[in-house]
Amino acid sequence: MRLRPALTAFAALPLILGACASSGSSDASASGLLVATTVSPITSIAAAIAGDKVRVEGIVPEGTNSHTFEPEPSVAKLLSDADIVFINGLKLEDPTAELAKANMKSGADLVEIGTTVIPESDYIYDFSFPKEEGKPNPHLWTDPLYAIKYAAVIRDELSKKDPTNAAYFAANFDAFAAQATALANALRADQATVPNGALKLLTYHDAYAYFAKDFGWQIIGALQPKNFEDPSPSEVAALIDQVKAQQVPVIFGSEVFPSKVLEEIGSATGAKYEDSLRDDDLPGAPGEADHSWLGLMKYDYTTMIRALGGTTTNLDAVDITPKVKDSAVYPQ
Ligand SMILES: [Zn+2]
Repeated sequence: MRLRPALTAFAALPLILGACASSGSSDASASGLLVATTVSPITSIAAAIAGDKVRVEGIVPEGTNSHTFEPEPSVAKLLSDADIVFINGLKLEDPTAELAKANMKSGADLVEIGTTVIPESDYIYDFSFPKEEGKPNPHLWTDPLYAIKYAAVIRDELSKKDPTNAAYFAANFDAFAAQATALANALRADQATVPNGALKLLTYHDAYAYFAKDFGWQIIGALQPKNFEDPSPSEVAALIDQVKAQQVPVIFGSEVFPSKVLEEIGSATGAKYEDSLRDDDLPGAPGEADHSWLGLMKYDYTTMIRALGGTTTNLDAVDITPKVKDSAVYPQ
C-alpha cells in the first residue's frame, strides 16, 4: 500500500547505500555498473553497447531451452548486485523476472526490452505460442529491425544510470546499428536469389515469426508443440500430411532442440531437412567474433537461404567484427 508513495523516497536511498555497500564496485577494474541479462543474443547486444564501461553477465546458459528455464537459486546473488536486469519479456523469462523482483536492490531497474519495443497489438501468436496460452511468440531478436530497437533501449538505460559515458554508449549503438543494417541489407539482396521467390520456413522451433513478417518470408508452420516437447505420433502424422500438401522443400531444425522427428518427416515426405539453425545459442566460443548476435543471425540467414537454393554472396561479405571488445559473461 505504501509502495508507490515510498518509491520517490527510495529513489534517493541508493546514493547512501551505494556509498556504504560498495562491495560491488570495489573490484578496481569494474567501472561501476553491473548489468544482468538473460538469453545470449540479448547479452551480446548489451555487450556491444556497454563495451568496457559496464560489466554484463548473462543468466541463461547457452544451448538451454530458454522457454522453460528456471534459474538456480544462486542467480539471486547476481540479481541482487545488478543495477539493471535486462530481460526479453513477452513472458519468455517469467521465473527469472520473479527471482529478480524478489532480490533486486532498491534503485535497480528491471527492463523488459521486448515488451518496451513492441506494442501489444503487434504481438504474434501462432503454432507453438497459441493465443489461448497467453504467451506471445517472444523471438523479436531474430529480426534485425527489432535487434536495433533492443540496442537503443540498452543505450538509453545505460545512459540513464551512467550519464558520463552516454556519448560512448551512443557511439557503440551507432556502430552496432550500422552493422545490423548492413546485415539486413545483405539479407534482402541474397534472399532475392532463392528460386521462385519461395521464402518459406517450416521450422522445428518457432523463432522467426517477426523476422518473416518484416522481411517478406512465409512461415508455413512450426513442428514444436506449445509444451516444447517432441510432437506426438499423431501430430507427426498430421505434419507429414501438411508437408506433402504444401510441398515444403526444406524443414529447418534447431541446434537447441535436436529432434528425430525431422528425419522421420523428411524421409516420409522427401523434404530436405537442415537441422543446424540456432535460436538463442551463439555460434563459436565466447571471445570469438561469430559468438555474437551478428554472428548468430548471419549464420541463420545464410543457412536458410542456401538450403532453399539461393546464394549468399552479400551475407558472406558482412563484417561481424565487434567494434568493442565483448567481455560479457556467457554461462555455458
Ligand atoms: Zn526460442
